Amino acid sequence: MAALGLEGPALIIAGKTAIGRLADTWKSSLDEAKMRHTVYRFSGECSTAEIERAKAVARECSARTIVGAGGGKVLDTARAVAADLALPVVNCPTVASSDAPCSALSVIYTEEGVFQEYRFYRKNPDLVLVDTQVIAQAPPRLLVAGMGDALATWFEARTCVAGSVRNMRGGGSTATALALAELCYRTLLADGAAALLAVSTQVVTPSLERLVEANTLLSGLGFESSGLAAAHAVHNGLTASHDTHAFLHGEKVAFGLLVQLVLEGAPRATADEVLGFSSSVGLPITLADIGLPQPTRDRLDPIARRATAPGETIHNEPFEVTPEMVADAILAADAMGRAWRKQNPDLTTDEHK
Ligand SMILES: [Zn+2]
Repeated sequence: MAALGLEGPALIIAGKTAIGRLADTWKSSLDEAKMRHTVYRFSGECSTAEIERAKAVARECSARTIVGAGGGKVLDTARAVAADLALPVVNCPTVASSDAPCSALSVIYTEEGVFQEYRFYRKNPDLVLVDTQVIAQAPPRLLVAGMGDALATWFEARTCVAGSVRNMRGGGSTATALALAELCYRTLLADGAAALLAVSTQVVTPSLERLVEANTLLSGLGFESSGLAAAHAVHNGLTASHDTHAFLHGEKVAFGLLVQLVLEGAPRATADEVLGFSSSVGLPITLADIGLPQPTRDRLDPIARRATAPGETIHNEPFEVTPEMVADAILAADAMGRAWRKQNPDLTTDEHK
C-alpha cells in the first residue's frame, strides 16, 4: 500500500473469519507502516443498508483508504464504500470463490439476499492482494465455487464477442481479453482437480497458484472486458428462488452455464467437457444440486422471468430469449446433467451420488 502511495487511516471491511485469522497481521504490518486502521465487521450481505453503515464508520475514522478482506460480498461492499467516498480501495480476497476481486463493479443484493442490481465504478481496485497461504486455509467448497464462476467466463465472453455486443464497461472487447478468458478455461481443465486436492490438504502448490490466478485475475479480466451472457443471467434468475440461497454464486453460475449451452445449441462434445470438469471437482450439474430437486413449471417461471428481465446479460445472446425458452433450457440442462451422471457413475464425486 505504501509503495502505491496509499495512505492511512485505513478502514478494513472484513468478514468474521478474516478478522479471526488476520487481525494480528493487519496490526503488525500497518503499525510498522505507521498507518492507523479500524476494522469494520461485515454483516453478511452487500446491501444498500450495509454500504451506508460501513460508510458512516469510514467517515467517523476519517479513512483515506478502504480495504476489503474476505469473500466476494465483502469486497463488493468495500468497493461501493470507496466509490461513494471517492477513496482508493485495496481488495484482499481470503477465498478464491468468485471473480469479483479485480472488477470495477459490485453486485448489490437486498437484505434478504435477492439480486438487486449491478453498480459500476469509475475505476478498478488500486490493489488486489492475494495470499495463497490464506486461500489454502479456506474451505475447499469456496475454491470450487470460484471455479464455477470462472468456468462460464470464456463461454460468456465468446458469445459476447461473436455478437459484437458492448462489454461490461460499455466498450468493445479485445483479442487480449478473449485470449485471457480462454486461458482461464484451459487453466481450470488443467489445474482444477489438482488445486482442489491442494486446498483439501491445506497446502500451496503450483497448480493452486495457477488456479487462483484463473479464478481471480483471468476470470475477472475476461468477464469485465468481454462481457456476460446467459450463464450469469440464469444465476440472477435462480436467486429469485429462496431454495437456492444456500448455494454460492459460482455454484449457480456453473449450472447457468449448462443452461446457456443448451440455449445456444452447443455441440455435445462441449457440453460433455463442461459436465466432466464440473463433476470432477464437485460443481452442480443438476437442479437438485442447487436446492431445486422437484422443478415444476410454476417454480421455474419466476426464475425464468428474472433471468430475462430488461437489461439482463441474457440479451447478449445473438437471438431473442424469452422466459419460456429459459424455463425449457433449465429443464433440458437438468435432464442432461442427470443423464450424464447416470452414464458416468465412476466420475461422480461422492456427495452427488
Ligand atoms: Zn460471476
